[in-house]
Amino acid sequence: KPLTQLGVFGNPIEHSLSPRIHSLFAQAQQEHVNYQRYLATSGRFSRSVAQFFCHGGRGANVTLPFKQDAARLVTQLTERAQLAGAVNTLISSKSGQLVGDNTDGEGLAIDLENKGFKVSGRSLTIFGAGGSARGILPLLLAQQPKHLYLINRTVEKAEALKSELKALGLAEANLVQVLSSASAIEEPVELLINATSSSLTGQCLTLPPILADDACGYDLMYAAKPTVFMHQLTQVGCKKVSDGLGMLVEQAASSYQLWMGGERPDTTSVMSELRKSS
Ligand code: NDP
Repeated sequence: KPLTQLGVFGNPIEHSLSPRIHSLFAQAQQEHVNYQRYLATSGRFSRSVAQFFCHGGRGANVTLPFKQDAARLVTQLTERAQLAGAVNTLISSKSGQLVGDNTDGEGLAIDLENKGFKVSGRSLTIFGAGGSARGILPLLLAQQPKHLYLINRTVEKAEALKSELKALGLAEANLVQVLSSASAIEEPVELLINATSSSLTGQCLTLPPILADDACGYDLMYAAKPTVFMHQLTQVGCKKVSDGLGMLVEQAASSYQLWMGGERPDTTSVMSELRKSS
């Protein structure tokens, strides 16, 4: 089979697990894939992406902090990427178009479901208003939570995101409440999702004052050890906490299938392989 060139653009990028995950998918599906990391800088992001595709790249992932830049770069956006205003998957189409998609929301939804973390009818707190928050919010809202508190230290960014969601008919009047700190939440929260990069720098977040007895916590970040956010939740008695490895592998499987066609790669074996070696 011919060699397929894939890659991931981001900054920082050296610790990305994506090359490993995609190599494991390719191995399992007996496909010939070369997946590389590309360190991008804000001035050179679009030039680096253009070069990659000019040299025969089939597809690429985009990660922190370029997902919104990627949405402005492509010639075509899928509906879910348009809703998110952020792109994590670039695809070179047969007609020469550069298509931007977003598989983050799908990856998280699949992993929450696998773990039994319910969204529907629950009170949710989402931290963050960056690229990944944009990717996951449309899918979380589609599952009809009871309330969704959107917390971001730069509150204007969260307000802007809420307005966009409302304009798209995704957030009814009182469903989404924007706050600069979770300390103002008055009801017991049932699901907390960290979509900020606070764990990358090891910083704590202010948690809501009351958590439900069966509250679940999810940090989008993956690290070999539990993240600061997971620690914080465990300390206040939250029994079900997860890192973002499951989401990472599920969103990767969705991207891989978009590039390569065929069946969705098996994710269970890849996750246990990664846990074993971390
Ligand atoms: P962005 O750079 O687009 O957004 C960063 C967000 O984090 C902003 O809302 C920013 O707030 C907030 N933030 C940064 N530092 C802090 C801090 N110390 N305290 C509070 N808020 C902070 O990043 P992404 O949305 O792309 O990524 C966020 C995280 O999600 C990363 O850790 C990334 O690794 C992870 N991720 C995991 C995925 C997975 O598959 N598991 C997929 C996608 C992302 P402000 O607006 O105020 O600057």
